[in-house]
Amino acid sequence: MSLQFLKSPVQFLKGVGPRRSEVLAQHGVVEINDLLSYYPRRYLDRTSVSLIRELKAGSDPVTVIGTVIAAGVIPGRRTRRFEVVLEDEPGRQMKCVWFQGVGWISKSIEKGHRLAVHGKPARYGGMISFSHPDFDRLDEEGPPVETGRIIALYPGSAPLQQAGMTSRSFRKIIYNLLKERGEELQENLPGDILSKHDLLEGRVARRAIHFPKDQDELSKARHRLKFEELFFFQLLLAKTRTRREAVPGIRIPSSGPLESRFFAEVIPFTLTNAQKNALREIGDDLMSGKQMNRLLQGDVGSGKTVVAATAALKAIDAGHQVAVMAPTEILCEQHFRSLSAFLEPLGVQVGLLTGSTPAASRKELLAEVADGTLQFLVGTHAVIQETVKFKSLGLCVIDEQHRFGVLQRATLFEKGNDPHMLLMTATPIPRSLAMTLYGDLHVSIMDERPPGRQPITTRMVREKERESVYNAMRRAVAEGRQCYVVFPLVAESEKLDLKDAVSGHELLEAEFPEARVELVHGRMKSAEKEEVMSRFISGESPILVSTTVIEVGVDVPNATFMLIEHAERFGLSQLHQLRGRIGRGKHASTCILMAEYKQSEESRTRLRAMEDTEDGFKISEIDMEIRGVGDFFGTKQSGLPAFRIADLLNDQAILVKARAAAFSLVESDKDLTDENHAAMKEYFEAFVLEDGLRLSRVG
Ligand code: ADP
Ligand code: MG
Repeated sequence: MSLQFLKSPVQFLKGVGPRRSEVLAQHGVVEINDLLSYYPRRYLDRTSVSLIRELKAGSDPVTVIGTVIAAGVIPGRRTRRFEVVLEDEPGRQMKCVWFQGVGWISKSIEKGHRLAVHGKPARYGGMISFSHPDFDRLDEEGPPVETGRIIALYPGSAPLQQAGMTSRSFRKIIYNLLKERGEELQENLPGDILSKHDLLEGRVARRAIHFPKDQDELSKARHRLKFEELFFFQLLLAKTRTRREAVPGIRIPSSGPLESRFFAEVIPFTLTNAQKNALREIGDDLMSGKQMNRLLQGDVGSGKTVVAATAALKAIDAGHQVAVMAPTEILCEQHFRSLSAFLEPLGVQVGLLTGSTPAASRKELLAEVADGTLQFLVGTHAVIQETVKFKSLGLCVIDEQHRFGVLQRATLFEKGNDPHMLLMTATPIPRSLAMTLYGDLHVSIMDERPPGRQPITTRMVREKERESVYNAMRRAVAEGRQCYVVFPLVAESEKLDLKDAVSGHELLEAEFPEARVELVHGRMKSAEKEEVMSRFISGESPILVSTTVIEVGVDVPNATFMLIEHAERFGLSQLHQLRGRIGRGKHASTCILMAEYKQSEESRTRLRAMEDTEDGFKISEIDMEIRGVGDFFGTKQSGLPAFRIADLLNDQAILVKARAAAFSLVESDKDLTDENHAAMKEYFEAFVLEDGLRLSRVG
């Protein structure tokens, strides 16, 4: 198949036409290429089909193949249903029942059809039945596509069904397409990679994924296509990284006077081994003569700020300026405070620039940054990216980098005069995901906490225990400790949630008449927020009610108690971040997860995981297992493509190989064939367009 043919619209294929092509387009299938990679969701293996007489109510789901001997809509008082009687051996019958989609399902199944149904056997009125089974029409006499041992079943939807695009239609269309043009399919992976990794040829894999001869061929085809998909994404990352590394970096020596004084005079502790390692890696990057391109991934409380401050001092010692960017104003203010505390004793001035910096001071700040008098600027991304001109920016630190995706990051690096880049995140993620999400960066991991930290006791409780929770809070306050009470803030109903926090605050004020109970939320004016936060940080107010604005960065070691309301509404990683606000000092801490009586299985698993472990990496693994990779960060936010066949959770071994192959290909600078290039472009475009962004300089 020529590339041109692969890129032509499916509409003109036999069996498609205008109506079907419109519905297919809604499912991402526009070009012939898309159709070939519209992969089956499941396969029906005829050798593992059950007989009706063997079925047992309550067993795991099974597949049955039979003939429809009766089918009809049965009216009911409130709802109607569609029932089908299926027979496989003479006199052996079962029922399939649908309560939903009765309209279109009743139109797609008729007496005499051969059906494959997949469902969970139950027994009603003496007969085995499936309710809402997955179903698929088979024909004994159709094209050879239906008589094979393994039959592909495609992802369906009501609109597809209504347009007649059943699994059977997919099989027919793809079968004809491959029969006529399949031989023309070109290999898109370099030959030495194919042989080195023992991969099925592209042409064979593309046929076998739809029409496998046997299980063995199917698994080889899946393997090859997963490899291909992961390979091309890693190639994008490899190219991005190599391109950045071609940018000469300012050479920054390993140690200067400010850095030495910092360790001698300012910090009262010794660095953990994890901090030392991270600093060594950063130091090497800064000296290398290439632009640094590093992610510092450290669990909450692992001490990233000290590492960032040290890196900053190296740059300042070498006569350059430093910018620190964070996503929210609260986080900026927190960085500003802790960095000022570290750096001002050394005579380094730190400036703060956010959306709410008054125009006059903003002008002054910008002037100082431009003429080089101000060496260190903390600010929100938007502000720094748009308007700031530095005299000599040597290092740019970006905090909570997970809010940027791979692709957004590419645009970030385009800005400015190519400073060294240090990205930081407190959200640990599973390694396989890191290789993809952060695959264009070098990664330093800090998985160790400073010594002397007390463990946090975490407990899930119900409303009826609220009084005892308040009593525990009273005890903590009486001992001079401080408490957070957190309410969720879900974007869709922000107003409503805010009401929750506001009324929660009133309730607590009544409950704790002696104590100063304060409220902070995202809708408050920045100055107001700042005042509330500083009263909490200084210990003046013992109880802080807040929305999730405190999620990241806030560091109050005296806070030892956290009550999280409606805990079931939070994601696991978010709960972990929140909890990281306590357990930061020398006193033991308690985290209470207040949960509804009615909870999904999933949310119970999540809250139990919180009770069981404090290890951010473990928590992220569990989170990814529960939610699946797609929802882990949200595809949009992460800038990750929606992979069609690869699964980052289960295909780690393939990922590691594909990554190595992609990076060594880019490093070797070998010539690629037109097919290699075309495939690369195809994949990149798909990935890039998904996010609505263009990677202009990649390639
Ligand atoms: P995070 O990685 O969550 O940003 P921070 O940088 O805010 O963590 O550090 C958490 C707390 O631990 C701070 O109060 C910091 O001063 C302290 N800290 C950092 N490193 C060490 C260390 N090596 N020994 C003791 N305390 C440390
Ligand atoms: Mg921090």
